[in-house]
Amino acid sequence: MGTDSSDLFGSLLKAPALTRVVPVLVPLPVPVPYSYAVPEGMHVEPGSVVQVPVGPRQVIGVVWDGDDEKSAAGVDPKKLRPITLVFDCPPLSKEMRDFVEWVASYTLSPPGLVARMAIRAPAALDPEPMVEGLRYLGGQPDRMTPARAKVLDRVGEEDVPWTRSGLAHAAGVSLSVIDGLIGQGIFDTVFLPPPPVVALPDPDYVAPRIEGPQKEATEEILGSIRAGGFSASLIDGVTGSGKTEVYFEAIAETLRRGKQVLILLPEIALTASFLDRFHDRFGSKPGEWHSDLSPRIREKVWRGVVTGEVKVVAGARSALFLPFEDLGLIIVDEEHDPAYKQEDRVFYNARDMAVVRARIGDFPIVLVSATPSVESQVNGLAGRYTTVHMPTRFGDAALPDLHLVDMRRHPPQRGGFLSPILLRGMARTLEKKEQSLLFLNRRGYAPLTLCRVCGHRFQCPQCSSWLVEHRFKSQIQCHQCGYNEPTPEACPECGTLDHLVPCGPGVERIAEEVEKHFPDARTMVLSSDLLGGMKRVRLELEAIAKGDVDIVIGTQLVAKGHNFPLMTLVGIVDADLGLSNGDPRAAERTFQLLSQVTGRAGRTGLKSHGLIQTFQPLHPVMQAIVSGDATAFYDREISEREKALLPPFGRLASLIVSAETRVDAEGHARGLRAAAPHVSGISVLGPAEAPLALVRGRHRFRLLVHGRRNSDMQGFLRTMIANGPKARGSVQIQLDVDPQSFL
Ligand code: ADP
Ligand code: ZN
Repeated sequence: MGTDSSDLFGSLLKAPALTRVVPVLVPLPVPVPYSYAVPEGMHVEPGSVVQVPVGPRQVIGVVWDGDDEKSAAGVDPKKLRPITLVFDCPPLSKEMRDFVEWVASYTLSPPGLVARMAIRAPAALDPEPMVEGLRYLGGQPDRMTPARAKVLDRVGEEDVPWTRSGLAHAAGVSLSVIDGLIGQGIFDTVFLPPPPVVALPDPDYVAPRIEGPQKEATEEILGSIRAGGFSASLIDGVTGSGKTEVYFEAIAETLRRGKQVLILLPEIALTASFLDRFHDRFGSKPGEWHSDLSPRIREKVWRGVVTGEVKVVAGARSALFLPFEDLGLIIVDEEHDPAYKQEDRVFYNARDMAVVRARIGDFPIVLVSATPSVESQVNGLAGRYTTVHMPTRFGDAALPDLHLVDMRRHPPQRGGFLSPILLRGMARTLEKKEQSLLFLNRRGYAPLTLCRVCGHRFQCPQCSSWLVEHRFKSQIQCHQCGYNEPTPEACPECGTLDHLVPCGPGVERIAEEVEKHFPDARTMVLSSDLLGGMKRVRLELEAIAKGDVDIVIGTQLVAKGHNFPLMTLVGIVDADLGLSNGDPRAAERTFQLLSQVTGRAGRTGLKSHGLIQTFQPLHPVMQAIVSGDATAFYDREISEREKALLPPFGRLASLIVSAETRVDAEGHARGLRAAAPHVSGISVLGPAEAPLALVRGRHRFRLLVHGRRNSDMQGFLRTMIANGPKARGSVQIQLDVDPQSFL
């Protein structure tokens, strides 16, 4: 209550006990928090995780900042619904709340949907049940048997609490032996707190492995960490230069300071080898965070992160929203990777938002890549990031020798896609009992099927995309929406039997060609649609690393981070594939992907090669790849972006308006366009039908907003949406600030 007399008067008129009112962010697409009454005796503060009613449902929300009086303005607190309960967990810190606000306002997303990414399901908030354990009371059993002796020996070795089954397993005896000892009073049962989800990492578990150029890089990074406060560093080092070892030292230093660490990785589900490597250095695995984990494990990790028990998390982009108790360092490995961009509900780039999180939390961040994004390169050049270069591979591993194969001069056999040069290279690699990798970023057998008689093309009934033939599954599939049907034998248009022809290659078709040329080789196709899912992919990756396969045909799944010691030839089946899709980042992306894939070869001392099939051997990307002159490529790319005022020299936002009818989508998009304010330095392109004009039966129109670097893009977009037509019926708007996709 204030001291001012009108306030006093006011409260005299109201009920004697003043109901406290607080704003609560609810997980709904609404722009502001809702107000709730705090029942008497309940303690909440900003950040408290609570359950509140919304309509007939109960949802999980977060008590937000903002003063109580204001949130109650004009509302009779007695009419407000009360908070149902407060969960027993630490409130979201001020730092986290600021981060949520920042992301919401930058991406123009409802703050409640951003906050939702930071909190877990209620089960995670209940205390975990105690587990039944054994307490060793000492003494000897009446009768000693060999099995009983084994148990007592094992207990003597380690003074840790055992569970019944854990001890039986460790001692190699049956449960009845343990129960016998309990009966004899050698053990009694006690309830123990549940074991942590991961053990504590030890920064000094083994001596650091740092040599040559790694030393300087490590000193530089450790310098920033020791200086304290926010700093952003970029480790720009070729594949195999030892970047991981360098950032492990940054992690060790942060752990010594008692703080937590977050490692972001683009394909965490496939990084079993990374976890092992971490274990070798720190004596325990990091907590994992990605969608492939069981809900139970996710809850445990979440809880450990909140309480500070889990010191290191290795996770996919969503790990960025974990409410760490005391985060002190973020590593973003493969920082250029498009997988950091989420294009669903809240559209955000985890790499960029990680830098924001570090700035708000006032701690260091380290970005890592063999092919940094143009954005990060420019930040380095401008002095916003400290760049550390590591231009050579560690030890005696050399980068592969790269050659272009001009497909106009060395065409494949009729009906094939592999040039004689590549086939010869594969034959030689086989003779040496080494491995080849053929890379083609296209799943399935053929990207398009048509009828030779009438020209009919198989298209998805709900999307504007061709159906892709998958021979292993005998299906044609839509890669947009997952629609599929059995591969037809007759043309649905003209009815002719057996005249359907596949056009163009996918990995399955390349595998067929390989099997024809090398019938005795052990061949494997690796792509994300393997039967058996990610688990199968992980097993296959292990098999490759062990040398159980001679020729691997893979999509971009094989491009990332794996270490295949015997791989000495990489063939790029179609290097031009990503160049012509109207994406302003196409050249950069192609350069990154090709560098990454060819970087799979020659990880050990063996001599290695890369053969790059292209119809455009003079294209700057191809020239940059073979010359190894990344700097020249980036310089050129940067100056072109600067001229065109493209990111990071200008800003882009994309709006996709979709609706069940084309007319509704187009009409709404035009309405938005008309509502755009007139601001110098910002212009709107479109609306135009999106390249993917139809997805899941929804028609799509696209507006692209372009602004100068310092323009207030968010303000512009807010005004445009506020002044534009209200989205009615089936109309939906997707807002993407800093878009990566232009489809
Ligand atoms: P990057 O992360 O740059 O691709 P890695 O850190 O994976 O490179 O290192 C490449 C290889 O060299 C790995 O097999 C790693 O174990 C090895 N390595 C790196 N640094 C050292 C070192 N100082 N001592 C021994 N082996 C090292
Ligand atoms: Zn479809």
